[in-house]
Amino acid sequence: MIQLFIPLNFLGFIYREIREALINIERLFGLLDAPVKVRDLPAAPELEVSGGSVSFDDVAFAYQADRPILHGVSFTIPAGHTLAVVGASGAGKSTLARLLFRFYDVDGGSISIDGQDIRSVSQESLRQHIGVVPQDTVLFNDTIGFNIAYGRPGASEEEIWQALRMAQLEDFVRRLPQGLDTQVGERGLKLSGGEKQRIAIARVLLKNPPVLILDEATASLDTHSERRILDALNLVSARRTTLAIAHRLSTIVHAEQILVLDHGRIVEQGSHQQLLAANGAYARLWTEQQRASDMDSPLP
Ligand code: ADP
Ligand code: MG
Repeated sequence: MIQLFIPLNFLGFIYREIREALINIERLFGLLDAPVKVRDLPAAPELEVSGGSVSFDDVAFAYQADRPILHGVSFTIPAGHTLAVVGASGAGKSTLARLLFRFYDVDGGSISIDGQDIRSVSQESLRQHIGVVPQDTVLFNDTIGFNIAYGRPGASEEEIWQALRMAQLEDFVRRLPQGLDTQVGERGLKLSGGEKQRIAIARVLLKNPPVLILDEATASLDTHSERRILDALNLVSARRTTLAIAHRLSTIVHAEQILVLDHGRIVEQGSHQQLLAANGAYARLWTEQQRASDMDSPLP
């Protein structure tokens, strides 16, 4: 019976503001200045997702013609599985994410979801099926409730609480005097990097997309926040096709498939154990990071 209560003011507020906010989605990838080049084909059909398997087939891409970024990149993420991508800064990892979200079209090869070339379907339908937890979450200068419902306009308050629970933010929000109506952003409550990221996770949980992109989602967090976020991320990526771009290798040691990108080329692919045994680029990255984290940790 309690579920029949509909918070009309709250939802009305969200409906009014949501259209305007959707325009800002480019900020998720820091692409405010990117030229809008991608166009739908006339009468482009909607993407039809069954399981949500993702394939890159011989993908080549350059932001500027004279500076190629990706060279012949091929991989498949089976429906519901996770692929982790690692590599040095500038290797082209985030570019993979931007191409899958179709902020740009590939210059060579193709990207497909469940066998449909993403250039052949409407951008709106493509993006409806993909959730993104970006490197730096941008919050709107609005309420917490708005910032989460933005993942799925029309969500009920109960659904928003459920997403908060799974993102490990419920207790935090319950303790705020104004709860979901708490203003955040520049003019409101300042949130830590970890809290902002958990808002982004709640947003994605509410959106409930079959395909997920995590871009270095735990970079620049302390170990305690990282643990909580990893727990939340594991929940959100379970049973979803996930492209997980990792900065810290410690976060992806359990990934089924790890791909090492170097200057826009796949140089290695396998599980953590296989890649360590191969004693190549991944093993070098691993040793470097182990050494760095030994230096970070406090003396006993
Ligand atoms: P990573 O995520 O692995 O650190 P990116 O995919 O962000 O790397 O970038 C790969 C390369 O593409 C870098 O050299 C970067 O400078 C370049 N790059 C990224 N975005 C743009 C852009 N909008 N215009 C031109 N070059 C870009
Ligand atoms: Mg990046």
